[in-house]
Amino acid sequence: MPESLTQNEKIRLFREKIIKWYKEEGDRDLPWRNTGSGWAVLVASFLLRKTTVAQVLKVYEAFLKKFPGPNDLLATSEEKIKEIIKPLGIEHQRARQLKELAQTLSQKYGGKVPCAKDELKKLPGVGDYIAAEVLLSACNQPKPLLDRNMIRVVQRVFGIKSTKRRPHTDTELWRFAEKLVPTSPEDAKNFNFGVLDFARKICTAKNPKCTACFLKEVCNYYSELKNKHNIKFS
Ligand code: SF4
Repeated sequence: MPESLTQNEKIRLFREKIIKWYKEEGDRDLPWRNTGSGWAVLVASFLLRKTTVAQVLKVYEAFLKKFPGPNDLLATSEEKIKEIIKPLGIEHQRARQLKELAQTLSQKYGGKVPCAKDELKKLPGVGDYIAAEVLLSACNQPKPLLDRNMIRVVQRVFGIKSTKRRPHTDTELWRFAEKLVPTSPEDAKNFNFGVLDFARKICTAKNPKCTACFLKEVCNYYSELKNKHNIKFS
């Protein structure tokens, strides 16, 4: 990173570059990224466990058409739910988890998904990350989607390292990540989804594509690489 950049300038550049890249190169058509429905976000999170995006895309629209809300799912037998989600595997477990989720939403929240972190975390199967997904996508709150991929990018770019064995539970890291997210709801979404796509396509866990990376000039990790191997910024 150029020595003269302050932390705030670096944050601003990081956001701007990620958002620009996401608009040009990101996976913007994923349906769960374009919904204002908390239920649709929760369903995507539950379906995406232990399977691929491509697999979930095959059943997601049909699932939501059949079960547009938790009460619709509750009124259906587990067998029928399993039929729809069978292509994803572990359908018994998924159907049971979705039923439990729908039941809690129906009994405690009148079939609506709450927009408060503490309430969301009382839902079965919902932790910090899924709560943040709902708050960001359905409640227009600028929260970071701090999973291991975002953690990797943030640690590399800003040269920080969580001291926790499980960094996604590190409250300091969550606080830092919160500072990175733009306040406008639209920018906050583009930023978060951009970081996740960037982590998967460029700043990969193994062999990150540093020399072709549009963030290399603000990246601490690259700066260290450059010093170590005497590389010049292009
Ligand atoms: Fe990741 Fe390398 Fe880009 Fe830094 S320069 S953000 S480590 S890909």
